[in-house]
Amino acid sequence: MAQHFDYICLGAGSGGIASANRAAMRGAKVLLIEAKQVGGTCVNVGCVPKKVMWYGAHVAEAMQLYAKDYGFDVTVNNFDWNTLVASREAYIKRIHAGYDRGLAGNGVTLINGFGRFVDNRTLEVNGERYSANHILIATGGAPTIPNIPGSEHGIDSDGFFALREQPKRVAVVGAGYIAVELAGVLHALGSDTHLLVRKHSPLRDFDPMLNQALVDAMAEEGPTLHTYSVPKSVEKHADGSLTLFLENGESLTVDCLIWAIGRAPATDNIGLENTEVTRDAKGYIITDEQQNTNDPGIYCVGDIMAGGVELTPVAVKAGRLLSERLFNGMTEARMDYSAIPTVVFSHPPIGTMGLTEPQAREQYGDQVKVYTSTFTSMYTAVTAHRQACQMKLVCVGGNERVVGIHGIGFGMDEILQGFGVALKMGATKADFDAVVAIHPTGAEEFVTMR
Ligand code: NDP
Repeated sequence: MAQHFDYICLGAGSGGIASANRAAMRGAKVLLIEAKQVGGTCVNVGCVPKKVMWYGAHVAEAMQLYAKDYGFDVTVNNFDWNTLVASREAYIKRIHAGYDRGLAGNGVTLINGFGRFVDNRTLEVNGERYSANHILIATGGAPTIPNIPGSEHGIDSDGFFALREQPKRVAVVGAGYIAVELAGVLHALGSDTHLLVRKHSPLRDFDPMLNQALVDAMAEEGPTLHTYSVPKSVEKHADGSLTLFLENGESLTVDCLIWAIGRAPATDNIGLENTEVTRDAKGYIITDEQQNTNDPGIYCVGDIMAGGVELTPVAVKAGRLLSERLFNGMTEARMDYSAIPTVVFSHPPIGTMGLTEPQAREQYGDQVKVYTSTFTSMYTAVTAHRQACQMKLVCVGGNERVVGIHGIGFGMDEILQGFGVALKMGATKADFDAVVAIHPTGAEEFVTMR
C-alpha cells in the first residue's frame, strides 16, 4: 500500500522547496523527495557558491586594483583557494540547516532518495511507494558537455565547485551566464583565464550595449577573450595539462578546461513513461500557463520546464503560486514570465530587464526612444584603475513607457531590483524623472537621463 499525501514534490531545489513549504503552510500534507542535497543547483552548485566566489573576487580586486589609491599599503602574501572554499561550504551547510528547520516547521516530510513515477499518482523511492492527488516535478537541470573527442577531460560548473586547487591556466568555453561568471571569478582570483566563445561576443542575446561593454572591459582588464573559437577536440598530456584544439586551427594548453555551454533538463529515469506527461524535442516538460502538464494532477516548475526561464526566483515564484492555486483557492494564480529582471555577476556586473533595444525596435518600430548614460563609477574614479558604467532605458510610445532597463557597472547587481518594480508597474520616463536622485550613486543616472 502506498502512503498517501495531498502533494508530492519531486526535487528539493528552489522550486520544489518553495512549493512544498507554501502547500504545507496552506494545510496540505506534503512529501518532498530529493536524491541529492536539499537546495538543488542554486544552493549547492549554482547561485550561492558562485556568489561567494564572486565576493572573493571582489576582495581580490579591492586589494590589488583599488586599495593603493585609497591609501592602503597592502601586500598579499598568499591566496588560499581552500580557505575560500571552506568558508563557502560552511555557509552552504548553514543554509541546509535553515531549509531543514523550515521544512520541519511547516510539517513537510522530506525523504532522501531517487523518486520515480510508477504510475501517474504514485512514486517509488528507496523501495517504498507514495501516492498523491497532486504531484510536482521540479527536478531541474544539469550541465552539458560537447560531443567532441576528448571532451570528457574537461569539467562542468559542478566540477568547478568541486575544485580543491586553483587552476593556474584555465579555459572556459561558453558564452552564457555561467561561462562569463566563472571566467571573471577565476581571472580576478589570479588564474590565467581564457574565455572562448563561438561568435563575436559572450551574452549575444543581451542588449548590444551590455555585451559590447563587457567585451571592452575584458579587453582592458581580462580575462582573455577568444572570439570565433569553436572547440574541435581535447588532448590530455602526461603532466595532466590539456590542449584544446579549435576549428580555426588554433590551440590552447591549460591545466583546467571548463565547459559552460548550457544545461539540459533532468528528466531521465524519473519514470515519465509511466505517465502522460509530454516533453519537447530537447526533453523539457511541456506545461500550460498554470504549470499543468498534459497529465492532470502532475505539474512542473523550474529549469526542467519547456519555455521557462532558468532562474531560481522564477522557479520559487512559480512553485509558490502553484501551491496557492492548488491549496488556497487562488484558482487564477499563474506565473508571469514576462519582463523578469536578471543579473549576471560578471566583472563589472550586468543588470537587465525587459526588451533589449533591438527587440523593442522590432516590436515598436520608430515609436522607440532610447536614453543612455556612460560614466566612471565613483568607487574606481578616484583610482588609477577606472571602470566604466553604462546604462540604458528603452522607452516606447508617446508617453515613453519604460520597457527595457539595462546596465553594466559597479553596483548594477543591487540597482536593478527596485527599478524592476517601476517597469512592472508600467512606469514612464516622466515617472522616473519625477523621482529625486540619490546623490552620489550610480543608480541616480536612471532618473536623470537626458
Ligand atoms: P546558457 O544557455 O545561458 O549559455 C550557453 C551558451 O554557450 C549558449 O548560449 C551558446 O552561446 C554557447 N554554446 C552552446 N553550445 C556551445 C558549444 N558547443 N561550444 C561553444 N559554445 C557553445 O547556459 P549557461 O550554462 O551559461 O546557463 C544556464 C542558465 O542558468 C542560464 O540561462 C541562466 O538562466 C541560468 N544562470 C543564471 C545565473 C544568474 O542569474 N546570475 C548564473 C548562472 C546561470 P553562443 O550561441 O553565443 O555561442
